[in-house]
Amino acid sequence: MTVSTLTPPTVPAGAKARSSDSGSSGRPPAIVIGSGFGGLGSALRLQARGYDVTLLEMRDKPGGRAYVYEQDGFRFDAGPTIITAPFLIDELFALGGRSKEDYGLRIVPCDPYYRIVFDDGRVFDYNGDEQHLRNEIRRFNPADEASYDAFVAHSRAIFDRAFTDLADQPFSSITDMLRIAPDLARLRADRSVHGMVSKFFTDPALRVVFSFHPLLIGGNPFQSSSIYGMIHYLEREWGVHYAMGGTGAVVQALVRLFEDMGGRLRLNCRVEEIEVERRQVSGVRLASGERLQAGTVVANSDVANTYRKLIRPEHRRKWTDRKLERMSYSMGLFVLYFGTDRLYPELAHHTIVLGPRYKGLLDDIFRHKVLAEDFSLYLHAPTRTDPAMAPDGCESFYVLSPVPNLEGGVDWESQRERYADRILESLEKLAPDLRRHVVTRRIMTPVEFVTELDAYAGSAFQFEPILTQSAWFRPHNVSEDVEGLYFAGAGTHPGAGLPGVLSSAKLLDRVIPHGNEVAAGLIR
Ligand SMILES: Cc1cc2nc3c(=O)[nH]c(=O)nc-3n(C[C@H](O)[C@H](O)[C@H](O)COP(=O)(O)OP(=O)(O)OC[C@H]3O[C@@H](n4cnc5c(N)ncnc54)[C@H](O)[C@@H]3O)c2cc1C
Repeated sequence: MTVSTLTPPTVPAGAKARSSDSGSSGRPPAIVIGSGFGGLGSALRLQARGYDVTLLEMRDKPGGRAYVYEQDGFRFDAGPTIITAPFLIDELFALGGRSKEDYGLRIVPCDPYYRIVFDDGRVFDYNGDEQHLRNEIRRFNPADEASYDAFVAHSRAIFDRAFTDLADQPFSSITDMLRIAPDLARLRADRSVHGMVSKFFTDPALRVVFSFHPLLIGGNPFQSSSIYGMIHYLEREWGVHYAMGGTGAVVQALVRLFEDMGGRLRLNCRVEEIEVERRQVSGVRLASGERLQAGTVVANSDVANTYRKLIRPEHRRKWTDRKLERMSYSMGLFVLYFGTDRLYPELAHHTIVLGPRYKGLLDDIFRHKVLAEDFSLYLHAPTRTDPAMAPDGCESFYVLSPVPNLEGGVDWESQRERYADRILESLEKLAPDLRRHVVTRRIMTPVEFVTELDAYAGSAFQFEPILTQSAWFRPHNVSEDVEGLYFAGAGTHPGAGLPGVLSSAKLLDRVIPHGNEVAAGLIR
């Protein structure tokens, strides 16, 4: 990867900086860089807590990884499609004294949560209905049915500690970490999710069914801490949901809410520098040369690249380029968005299509960082629930394949079309005439994660969720290097996925003083 590309200010030093303070509002200014879910959540929370918030997004649309592509009459959610913990979205509307329904937003449950198709043709329909799950387990391996209760109890124990306590604490000090260390030891957080699941299930296929979840947040089930085994319980507790109109509809509704609350979203505004004076943030400089002043800045942008590119090295004691380059980054994703001119009612809304290998493939992706000949896929078919995502009689899809991040050096320019063709060919085991009916397609590789989202190493989920990069060990929500700078999003605590990034925004409420206190001069 190339090193820092901090360019000198185009506005001469000493030129009068333009404040983002509206002046008349009397509220202190705050800036949020990036309009992913973590950025939207932070902007809403700061606006609700007495700040005058400017949300800066470098792309032409908000949402970050939840961008929306519209092509030939088809609508494609670019990234997140599975909504777990929808109450975290409800909480944001409540900040403005509204509800999601006020903004026409409808979030509906999915059943099954996922259809898991094994390479030998066996199918496991995974949902939150306990009896149904027991029947599915029995169908795969009767001997494992009895273990399900113990597995759920364990997943719940982790959930109680991890979701309710871990995700709710900023972990800004080592004391926070030491406080929960005994519980982590008791819950065997040092074990991998697959290792934990294997204690309960003997059947290799069932071990896959109950251990694949870390992949949804960029982790290798064989390396991610068993803390992430709580995802099973989280889904069971709150279900798996879909937003009508796609995840993009949630983004649109949150932006409208933010603007109704008085916040400003500025698109096509790339931040090129976070300005620091005597270790305290003073504002940002945009690519246009414009400067905005604020004593509170939240970065929702990629954490590694925020430190490397936006903050001058002399202001960074902890997060040096060298330290960031030594971190372990999550996998990349190859995403193929495609539309067909016919419907496939036999396909579920969410399907996981497994290849012949599980551990071997994950080793290729995470350890060897090579592009394997085989793949495991996640196929999203939103038209199953929401016909409005495609023209009449047509279907909108995306299929994603976990691949190595760019540290592996895959030449995507030469591979992209061939890889997409191979994926479509393999999907014909589910939909035999698929390739003949594809009428539009679009590809996103780890290279586009760099060019469109400025993701370090093209990683889809930032830092890999392993124990030594979790909680206190992850870059903190409160910058360790610059006062007044905070982080919300996948690269900080608690981590990737919509529940993670919305929680990161939520815990900023605990560490950023209320705007009234700042305005009254009680703080800073
Ligand atoms: C293909 C895919 C599928 C996924 N599926 C799911 C799912 O089903 N369910 C789920 O819960 N999670 C899913 N995830 C994970 C989830 O989408 C992400 O973890 C989450 O959306 C990341 O949000 P974030 O707040 O970190 O910000 P991001 O979405 O990463 O947004 C960051 C924003 O910052 C902007 N930015 C960066 N640098 C600058 C700058 N210098 N100036 C201005 N703006 C800047 C970027 O343009 C971007 O808009 C998926 C991810 C991917 C990639």
